[in-house]
Amino acid sequence: MLPYSRQSIDEADIAAVVAVLRSDWLTTGPAVDRFEEGFARFTGSSHAVAVSSGTAALLAALHGMGIAPGDEVIVPAMTFVATANAVTWCGAKPVFADCDPRTLLIDPDHAATLVSRRTRAIVAVDYAGQPCDGDQLRSFADAHGLAFLADACHSVGGSWRGRPVGQMADATCFSFHPVKPLTTGEGGMVTTNDAGLARRLKRFRNHGIDTSFRERAEQGVHHYDMVGPGMNLRLSDLQAALGLSQLARLDEWTRQRNRLACMYDQLLEPLDWISPLAVHRDAGHARHLYVVRIGESPGGRNRNGFFRGLRERGIGANVHYRPVHLHSWYRQQFATGPGMCPVAERAGETVLSLPLFPAMTEREVALVVDHLCELACQPAGEPAGMSRREFASTGPGGGRANPPGRQSA
Ligand SMILES: *Cc1c(COP(=O)(O)O)cnc(C)c1O
Repeated sequence: MLPYSRQSIDEADIAAVVAVLRSDWLTTGPAVDRFEEGFARFTGSSHAVAVSSGTAALLAALHGMGIAPGDEVIVPAMTFVATANAVTWCGAKPVFADCDPRTLLIDPDHAATLVSRRTRAIVAVDYAGQPCDGDQLRSFADAHGLAFLADACHSVGGSWRGRPVGQMADATCFSFHPVKPLTTGEGGMVTTNDAGLARRLKRFRNHGIDTSFRERAEQGVHHYDMVGPGMNLRLSDLQAALGLSQLARLDEWTRQRNRLACMYDQLLEPLDWISPLAVHRDAGHARHLYVVRIGESPGGRNRNGFFRGLRERGIGANVHYRPVHLHSWYRQQFATGPGMCPVAERAGETVLSLPLFPAMTEREVALVVDHLCELACQPAGEPAGMSRREFASTGPGGGRANPPGRQSA
């Protein structure tokens, strides 16, 4: 099975983790400091605070910004549920903004219609790895007196107008899950230029306590004070060592992802029933996902038909995302539903993420496109591996097939 994404682990990564296993500190140790310093340098931000996941990063950042019950936070509908879930865990209400049909990034014009007296922040998601227009969102947030949070879980390694992702928002959140561009197994990071926020984040990830275990050990004291709410959102040194080792190869991986994406663009160009997302000329795309939209294929096959067909052929395509406001819990809790974000809803039915990861070969890209072309010309209900004639002789209801749909043009 060719997966839609896969981590790259080399011997240097393994050696870095093993070195931590042989050391005194498995958590709250010096590897976490080194990863944070390296990550802050990489993103050009003043502070980086490592946490246990991208979700933890979002939760800590929102809490650190003071988001609390009674507040509203604007989030894009076209994102992973974690973005909105973090808002609800702060007791606040997520208000869903629609997206630009060309890029599927948050639509600031729609967001502007959602600002109320209670709105405290806007979260922008760098969907598929394309950085949002940080300058525009900065002005938007300033004009409305909002905090600006970037969910950059897709876009580590990307840039906007030459500036690395991680320095434009009040806080930027990253995920290091294995499908993301850089991995620590599980893990996350918040970058910020606000020293006070960085201090609050470090406290929040460690039970709201003012010093870490290592600081107390080094100072030879046992006393600590819990000065605010918190929980355990720490990243271990094993994970931090892996992250720092991975960071050294991230630029090379981003270039390779862009090369492969460019090849997809060229091969898909002649096919009018499939369209890649637009890329802004000022965006340095991190290419976490290669997302296409499926239109009317000659054989009448829709997005779900391509998803199934590719799976049957060993190609692990995926769907990012079913818009958050359509999930049951959001409908129940916040009375959301169809019609609120029509562009995201339409995209939720037509998007497909094709395999893309640094170790993928150009031959594999070409293979994926060949399979897409073959599937496009097959009638939608026809099972893979069966010629049209064999299918016809099986007749409607035979095998796993639905009655044949429209014939290919
Ligand atoms: C992956 C992801 C998250 C959550 O990150 P985890 O590390 O899995 O907790 C949040 N937002 C977006 C957009 C993501 O893709």
